[in-house]
Amino acid sequence: MTNLHRNFAETAALCDECLMVKAKTDLNEGLCYECHVEKYPPPPPEPETPNSPEITAPKPEPIVPPRPSIDPDTRELIQLLRQQVEQQAQIITLLQTQVQTFESQAQTIANL
Ligand SMILES: [Zn+2]
Repeated sequence: MTNLHRNFAETAALCDECLMVKAKTDLNEGLCYECHVEKYPPPPPEPETPNSPEITAPKPEPIVPPRPSIDPDTRELIQLLRQQVEQQAQIITLLQTQVQTFESQAQTIANL
């Protein structure tokens, strides 16, 4: 009987909180699992851990600026190019008439 009691005392213990007989191995700091959890609740899961991969929101479509219609500078440049083309055309016409003149002169010389 004494042995039995000693044996019981060695393997079992009372929970300090609920005074339930528990195996010593089930006790944590004198408390059964339930009471221990109640006394030392596990830290609640953090809502956001710094290491957790961030759920990236889908990136919004890049705002493409509407293609500008020909800006004044470009319009001016086009006008300038047109004028140049016109001038070149005039020069070409002038050269063509000169060529014709030379040709007729050459023919005149040849006929001499
Ligand atoms: Zn307990």
